[in-house]
Amino acid sequence: MPALDTLQKLEILADAAKYDASCASSGTSKRNSTGGKGIGSTEGMGICHAYAPDGRCISLLKILLTNHCIFDCHYCVNRKSSNVRRARFTPQEAADLTLTFYRRNYIEGLFLSSGIIKSSNHTMEQMVETARILREDHDFRGYIHLKTIPEADPELVHQAGLYADRVSINVELPTDAGLTRLAPDKNAAQIEGAMGGVKMAIRQAKDEKKRFKHAPRFAPGGQSTQMIVGADAASDADIVGKASRLYDSFKLRRVYYSAFSPIPDASAVLPLKRPPLMREHRLYQSDWLMRFYGYAPREVMQATEADGNLPLDIDPKLAWALKFRESFPVDVNRASREMLLRVPGLGVKAVNQIIASRRHRTLRLDDVAKLTVSITKVRPFIVALDWRPLTLTDRTDLRAMLAPKQEQLELFAA
Ligand code: SF4
Repeated sequence: MPALDTLQKLEILADAAKYDASCASSGTSKRNSTGGKGIGSTEGMGICHAYAPDGRCISLLKILLTNHCIFDCHYCVNRKSSNVRRARFTPQEAADLTLTFYRRNYIEGLFLSSGIIKSSNHTMEQMVETARILREDHDFRGYIHLKTIPEADPELVHQAGLYADRVSINVELPTDAGLTRLAPDKNAAQIEGAMGGVKMAIRQAKDEKKRFKHAPRFAPGGQSTQMIVGADAASDADIVGKASRLYDSFKLRRVYYSAFSPIPDASAVLPLKRPPLMREHRLYQSDWLMRFYGYAPREVMQATEADGNLPLDIDPKLAWALKFRESFPVDVNRASREMLLRVPGLGVKAVNQIIASRRHRTLRLDDVAKLTVSITKVRPFIVALDWRPLTLTDRTDLRAMLAPKQEQLELFAA
């Protein structure tokens, strides 16, 4: 086979990295990266967008070091039995590419993952070496996100954290049974063991930083993970339960949900169809409810339907409110912040504004309307000075009235 030049390798290894959602913001439109054509494509040459720890949206070069892999995860296009074109960057090549893109102002950092070559330790060494070249040889101050390999020696994972701003370890599937079936070379206990090690190292580095000004940083952007949705039989209730346990146990910054997408040359054990993308969106919304709206995982699970999945036609917050109508209406002039956050259509910003405004005056329906995108969604669930919904929350057709029209996009935050 003729040797590949850098551009050909980039084409292969950027395309192979696009299945990993754990550096990206959710909800961006799908763009075909094949051929890297067009202006403004987020993936064409391996550039994706992510949020830095300080909240800035940054562009990252998102590549694999190699798509060769000795593992055979059924859902992965790079598995050893897959018939794809393979390529491999040396650490020096990956570092040079990052620097070239950085100097041209295309990117502000690197997201580096890899298939497993030779062994987990060898691969992790290569990834750490890439980050080392950038940080030590070139004093690279940009953002680095390293995907670490749970089977690698913990010392190598530790070194990765010393160079990276964020590290991530994918749990891959929501249940241990799913992992055993679809990723037979991986081990749930090993994955969680590695996440536990990273959590301890982050905590230790923070403590040392308080005591010693020059203590080394360790993954100051924390750790994240990714779960594939729809490749196995796990329900949304299973996924929410797993995500909440991961947040609690390992203090993760983010859990990313990636709707399984049928890959070329797919394994026969996988479903033929991808789950609706809306399912992934509903999971992000439920994640949001747990992280910013004070919902317990148990409450999010209460919003699921008989099959354990969140409804697709309405968001989980509205689904919960419709199931627990006895908790409404909520008086916007008296209710606690916690209860106001339960009102469908009221986001965190609107609730903060309501609380600030009601210190000075008694709010009317119009005042609330000015703070929301759709007062129609809010109205059945609130009481204001001039508004009381009477029997509205008892209506059997309330769900149909409030469900967005099929083609209409929803705002994420409400
Ligand atoms: S370890 Fe599994 S998921 Fe990762 S590249 Fe190899 S086959 Fe794909």
